[in-house]
Amino acid sequence: MLTLALTGAVSAAAAVAAGYQSMAPTGQWYGQTFTGLHPASRQIALTYDDGPNDPHTMRLLEVLARHDVRATFFLIGGHVKQRPEIAREIVAAGHVVGNHTFTHPLLTFKSESHIRHELEQCRSALQDAVGEHSNLFRPPFGGRRPAVLRIARDLGMSAVMWNVTGYDWNAPPAAKIERKVAKQIRGGNVILLHDGGRKQMGADRSQTVIATDHLIARFKPEGYEFVNIPQMMGKNSHNQVGGFTP
Ligand SMILES: [Zn+2]
Repeated sequence: MLTLALTGAVSAAAAVAAGYQSMAPTGQWYGQTFTGLHPASRQIALTYDDGPNDPHTMRLLEVLARHDVRATFFLIGGHVKQRPEIAREIVAAGHVVGNHTFTHPLLTFKSESHIRHELEQCRSALQDAVGEHSNLFRPPFGGRRPAVLRIARDLGMSAVMWNVTGYDWNAPPAAKIERKVAKQIRGGNVILLHDGGRKQMGADRSQTVIATDHLIARFKPEGYEFVNIPQMMGKNSHNQVGGFTP
């Protein structure tokens, strides 16, 4: 960036950087979001987006229960309305649920009233399904701009990004998901995975479920502690904001 600026390509470079920052999970230009802890931490937070989803959310709950691990699920409000009982199962199993909007739009291009509506609709779907829940919010596709974060803050919500991506959107083989995640683990990681599909119920997440099983079995013996996002945020709450940028 600096080199480019000095050569006179300031505005072009700034525009590229601004576009990058609006989507980059650990970018902080557009407001502070939680992206994990410093790598000195031995904590890891598994997060799952785009559920609830039948049957893979339930399969995932079985795996997490077997390992006695609690995770964080960012649910799509529309899916919650379709299958509220799955959302209730997630909560009953001790996991945390957060807001992932009602229809999963890229909020970067939406009006302020639309953004607010998406967050509120999802919140009320969650409220109807599970009652009181966390104030955590994850923007679809990681897309955000100052208005998105300001509106979330106005609604009392706290934005959570990630610093490890599982690249499991297109359901690659479990071994591939596991390998991609494993090589990014440093400690203090928030791992992005998917138990659902943004478009509809029924996305095949069997490979993510298998990868989860293997990742926990692999990293727990190395001394890592699997926690949910509120647990991770609760510690070092003054130096975690901004998190660790890999
Ligand atoms: Zn999503």
